[in-house]
Amino acid sequence: MSEKITDKGTVRAPPQVPRTVGANLQKLMGRTSVTTPEPLTLRGDVTVELVKSSASDADVLFAARVSTLGEQSLDELKKDPERSKGLINYLVRDRHGSPFEHNSMTFLISAPIFVFREFMRHRVGWSYNEESGRYRELSPVFYVPDASRKLVQEGRPGKYVFVEGTPAQREAVGSTLAESYEQAYTAYQKLLAEGVAREVARAVLPVGLFSSMYATCNARSLMHFLGLRTQHELARVPSFPQREIEMVGEKMEEEWAKLMPLTHAAFNANGRVAP
Ligand SMILES: Cc1cc2nc3c(=O)[nH]c(=O)nc-3n(C[C@H](O)[C@H](O)[C@H](O)COP(=O)(O)OP(=O)(O)OC[C@H]3O[C@@H](n4cnc5c(N)ncnc54)[C@H](O)[C@@H]3O)c2cc1C
Repeated sequence: MSEKITDKGTVRAPPQVPRTVGANLQKLMGRTSVTTPEPLTLRGDVTVELVKSSASDADVLFAARVSTLGEQSLDELKKDPERSKGLINYLVRDRHGSPFEHNSMTFLISAPIFVFREFMRHRVGWSYNEESGRYRELSPVFYVPDASRKLVQEGRPGKYVFVEGTPAQREAVGSTLAESYEQAYTAYQKLLAEGVAREVARAVLPVGLFSSMYATCNARSLMHFLGLRTQHELARVPSFPQREIEMVGEKMEEEWAKLMPLTHAAFNANGRVAP
């Protein structure tokens, strides 16, 4: 992005926004041809990157065995894998939760603001840092459901299912969202150009705007999150999360399962209820 120096200091030129809306929208709606390019980026996915971790099944065993064996080395824990597996399963089954707290995973998540709004309701065992709309200009990246996202809710509150929706509904969602985002981001740019502070101008931006955050958790707090924010055939207590936060949860779970396979297996084997 270009900058110029004035008597007020360094001023950023208006962003050269990628003219990709037309292409993105067509792609999200399952088409290949591109018509009118417009100046926004539309996304139908979320991204989750495990940026830092100190988390293994051995951490759980290490913490649990202090109860009976006192202090010991991590190497000793590898001596009897079957017993270790059994202990982890017992801890999850009988909800002895604290041994699952001696580990840490930090994720970098990019998702729409409405996902973060739900995410940050998870208070216990989570730390968050989100990009600032006060200190930086927000990029024009917005959410439009892709072709896999079911659009229509049928049934009464508490007992409903989502169905695909018609091609006309999909078209309406894509074009209406794109049009609305375009208007909102143009208004944001207009206010910034008038010299209005970023923290004031951002009031015009919708919850479909992408944001990014670091979220740090441990296996216990992640299991609680996954129990509530994913739908799974093994869940003893079914939950009905919004699909977009579930997409984030699924990606986090994938990373966590690689780090702590025994704990992950025990979580599934015991109905996906956090200990
Ligand atoms: C499908 C779904 C629909 C939802 N719909 C809505 C909605 O319509 N409106 C809405 O406002 N929220 C809604 N929520 C959010 C929900 O109410 C919880 O805020 C969110 O799931 C976080 O759960 P939690 O409080 O258990 O998690 P955390 O905040 O991480 O807490 C973990 C656990 O710690 C304990 N705990 C934490 N704080 C306290 C406390 N103050 N007092 C006592 N115990 C505590 C509880 O045992 C809690 O389960 C929804 C959540 C889901 C999954």
